[in-house]
Order: sequence, then structure tokens, then C-alpha cells
Amino acid sequence: MGATRTVAVYSLGGTIAMTTDPVTGGVVPALSAHDLLAAVPQLEGHGVEVRVHDFRRVPSASLGFDDLTELGAEIDKTLAGGDVDGVVITQGTDSIEETAFVLDLRHGHEQPVVVTGAMRNPTMAGPDGPANLYAAVLAAADPQLHGAGVLVVLNEEIHAARHVRKSHTTSPAAFTSPGAGPIGRIAEDVVRLTATPPSRRFAPLKPLEPPRGHDVRVGLYTVSLGDDGELLSAWDGRCDGLVVAAFGAGHVPGRLVGNLERLAARVPVILSSRIDNGPVLTGTYGYPGSEIDLIGRGLIPAGTLGPYQARLLLRELLARDADRTAIAEAFAAFAH
Ligand code: ASP
Repeated sequence: MGATRTVAVYSLGGTIAMTTDPVTGGVVPALSAHDLLAAVPQLEGHGVEVRVHDFRRVPSASLGFDDLTELGAEIDKTLAGGDVDGVVITQGTDSIEETAFVLDLRHGHEQPVVVTGAMRNPTMAGPDGPANLYAAVLAAADPQLHGAGVLVVLNEEIHAARHVRKSHTTSPAAFTSPGAGPIGRIAEDVVRLTATPPSRRFAPLKPLEPPRGHDVRVGLYTVSLGDDGELLSAWDGRCDGLVVAAFGAGHVPGRLVGNLERLAARVPVILSSRIDNGPVLTGTYGYPGSEIDLIGRGLIPAGTLGPYQARLLLRELLARDADRTAIAEAFAAFAH
């Protein structure tokens, strides 16, 4: 790489930053951002200046919307300065697909934000954290990724936040982009793009001033075999919006349709699929509990968004007082 590029690294904890806890004998988040970068001496000589921010030291299941709002505000400030070419976030892999998606919905800068982590902690043989951090910094510094939004880099692959999923509990190759594939790879220190990053679906969502959005509760209900609808009605009156993870292309048992129609008359109800790949249909099946029936009863199809992404988009919209029409339009932008 030629002239010096500058990358800001924010560390949030996760396996990449874990060491053994003497009390439990298990690993817990302990390492600082400086510690993580000390494990990557290979970055020296690449013409990349790294600015380090020790932001949190938590397992990623404990990250919340407040953390993301605070992190987003810090990143905004850093990028608005104009002298940083990209950002890297290190965090636990458990929630990467969700944090990256939220950050991408809110991201309004040309500089990329690259989220990374590790599947194998630093006490194991062959930890992947240093290699992932190295690749993430190279990606964040690369001018080819200018305008690419939020990305996830692990196992030398570059994934768009829009598509990425954690697809294995332990494999270093846990991250995949079902139906789309990675947008590029890093080999011999070179970022090689194999696809165009997905285009932005709508203008970046405006930042939320804490504590706005605190009281927005979006439920997630997974339909499964033999479902009698009893637990679905437990959501009634307890949420501002609901995402249904339905069978297949958007199907539920016929006995659930009355409950769903009643719920959809009160709060936005999004129809998504339990399947990790492919869109919810809108016009193929016509029986009670099919997608045509449910959309006719007021449910909003999630398009190609998975249930976790759909929940996040709905929450972000409701926290900004979006009405039903605006919500339907936002989901329609993800139809393909
Ligand atoms: N439980 C860890 C976390 O998400 C797993 C990981 O980092 O890979 O914090």
C-alpha cells in the first residue's frame, strides 16, 4: 500500500479478547484494544496508522442498543473529522450479524466500517483473532471499499452486513452470506473484490438521541410444527411490533390466522421465514396460513431479510415513529 492510510479500531470484547478466568476456568473478555493490536506486528510496514479505542470488554450477547448508539456517535465523530479512512470494530461473533446490520442501517459515511472477531480464543492452538484483525484493518484501509457501508471480515472473507450470517457455532469459517456469497477475499495482503457491495436501500436512519427508542419492544415469534397459537396470543398487548418467523416461504398453520390478523390490526406484524436463505413469497400459495392469505390479513412481508434482521429494522423504524406505510415501504426496499 502506498501513502499512509489511517484506521480507527474500536474493541468491544468477545472471544478475540478473552483469556482464562482463574475462578471459573473458562475464558472471559479481558484484553484491551492495544493488546489485540500487539498480536499483529505484521501491520507495521503496511503504511497504515492505527488509532486505538478501548470501548467495551463484554461478551457480545451482552451488547445492547445503547452500546451501538454510543459507538455510532463516536464513529460519526471520528469519520466526520475526515482524516480517518476506515473503522474496524472487534467484538464477539455471537451478535456480529445483528450489530453489523444495525450499524449499516445507520451508517452515513463513505468510509467503510469493518466488524471482526474470532472463533478460537487466544488460549487455543491456532487462534484466528490476529489474522482476522489484520485482514479487517487492511480491508478498512483499502480505497476499493470506500462507499461499501458496514462489512464483516473473518477467515479472509469480506461479507456485506446486509447478507452475513453466523452459520456455525465453532468453525473459523463460521461466517457466510447465504444466497449472495462474500463480496471479496484478502490474499497475500491484497483485497480482491469478487462482487459489488449491495447498494444502499434507503437514506441512513437518523441517529437516535438516548433514551429514545428505549421503550420500543419488538417480539420475535417462531412458528413450529403443531403450533396451536396459544403462545402467539401471549404477545398481544405486550409489543409494539412483531416479527413472525414462519415456515418455508412464509406459511403458518391455518389455526394461527385469526390471532395474526387481530395482532396485525393493532401493531405492525412482519412475515419472515425460519429458512436462512431466500425471500418470503408474496403471490404463490393461496390456502389459509399461506403468504397470500397472511399479507391479505395485514402482515408485511420481510422480503429477503431474515427474522433477526427484520426485528432490527422494525425496531429502528418504530423508534423513529415510522407509521405503517413507511414501515411497509422500508421492507419493500428489501424485497429482492
Ligand atoms: N460468546 C462469544 C461472544 O460473542 C463468542 C465469540 O466471540 O465468538 O462474545
